[in-house]
Amino acid sequence: MPPQILVAGTGPAGLIAALGLARAGFAITLIGPEIRKDDRRTTALMNPAIQFLDGLGVIEPIRAKTAPLRVMRIVDATKRLIRSPVVTFRASEIGEQAFGLNIPNGVLSDALENAVVAEPNIGWRKALVTRWDIADDNVTAHLDDGTAVAAALAVAADGRGSAAREAAGITTTMHRYEQAALVLTFSHARGHADTSTEFHTETGPFTQVPLPGERSSLVWVVKPAEAEELSALDDAELSRRVEDRMQSMLGRVTVEPGRQVYLLSAGLPARFAQNRVALIGEAAHIFPPIGAQGLNLGIRDVQELIGIASENVDDPGFKRALAAYDRRRRPDIFARTGAVNLLNLSLLSNVIPAQLLRSAGLTVLGGFAPLRALFMREGLRTGSGLRSVFSDLRKQIRR
Ligand SMILES: Cc1cc2nc3c(=O)[nH]c(=O)nc-3n(C[C@H](O)[C@H](O)[C@H](O)COP(=O)(O)OP(=O)(O)OC[C@H]3O[C@@H](n4cnc5c(N)ncnc54)[C@H](O)[C@@H]3O)c2cc1C
Repeated sequence: MPPQILVAGTGPAGLIAALGLARAGFAITLIGPEIRKDDRRTTALMNPAIQFLDGLGVIEPIRAKTAPLRVMRIVDATKRLIRSPVVTFRASEIGEQAFGLNIPNGVLSDALENAVVAEPNIGWRKALVTRWDIADDNVTAHLDDGTAVAAALAVAADGRGSAAREAAGITTTMHRYEQAALVLTFSHARGHADTSTEFHTETGPFTQVPLPGERSSLVWVVKPAEAEELSALDDAELSRRVEDRMQSMLGRVTVEPGRQVYLLSAGLPARFAQNRVALIGEAAHIFPPIGAQGLNLGIRDVQELIGIASENVDDPGFKRALAAYDRRRRPDIFARTGAVNLLNLSLLSNVIPAQLLRSAGLTVLGGFAPLRALFMREGLRTGSGLRSVFSDLRKQIRR
């Protein structure tokens, strides 16, 4: 009898899906290479994602290596005619201690790998899928070690260029931005007070995110050639440039060894599941790193998929189950992808109406506490901001 579910891809989305589905009682074959250990990025995960990972036992062992995100700020650092005021979101405004945690990717992957290896319901095949065969009642992955694995459902966690997505006949609209993210970590003289600051510039966001102690991570989005130039600078010069860009907000900056450059793109598949394949993580949505959305959205994919598979235990890859997954993920993925791409384009745009809209939006957000609270709750989980507005309204009507 074939394993019930096959997960292709050993990035964070694949590891989390394998763990979550295994804990829900499914027999999982995880297919993918050894986990990358050289990823210098950090990932800001919001409370709902943290709670889910905590339930999988992944957070407690690493909590000391993470930093809470208590305050998030947006600073308009463009030199344009129309600029917005600084907008500050405080977790305390919505009764939370923090919005979430910032976790170094290496730390998260180690914790996920340990949990996957210890999980009896997961068999990990350290190989690549070279070909997919999809039939009415099952899906088969042919591996580069000459073997094959069949299952009722394949979870495509094989990243932005997902071959599983293509094999399932799902077309994808892709767009390459003329932007790249320079990623590094740095120490600084002044404390960050658990605050992340996203400076909006004409080339994209420059985002400082706190790490434990007086350290932060940086995602600096510029044109690809500039990213290469910056990453080739010596430590002293790069430290000076980072400090200048932040207007010395954290005092003297010292960049740490190790820099990476990521080219940015956007991609949206026509469907999120079809022909015994369900898409999660970057196989399902690609967009630039603004507002820490990517893996948070990927974890919501996993949560929805677990729910649907559990409702269809006999055949989790059944047509109707996959149609439900597609239908339920659509609003969240469309909303996040649309908002992030729009914000990114409005930064790059020299067109006055686009700048006006962004500036007006941020000005209203900055000045109007209830709207800010709604925005913050929506940032944590789709629908929860609106739900809380309705529940507040109901309470007021009852009074
Ligand atoms: C600079 C930057 C900063 C970011 N910051 C944040 C943040 O703060 N918060 C946030 O939520 N998100 C953030 N993101 C987004 C987040 O990093 C991505 O959403 C996440 O890494 C996607 O993970 P994934 O597992 O879907 O894909 P990937 O990490 O790309 O993993 C794909 C996996 O599939 C495997 N694979 C590929 N082909 C095959 C095959 N044929 N057979 C088997 N396996 C295969 C690969 O080896 C790899 O293991 C950021 C992204 C960038 C670029």
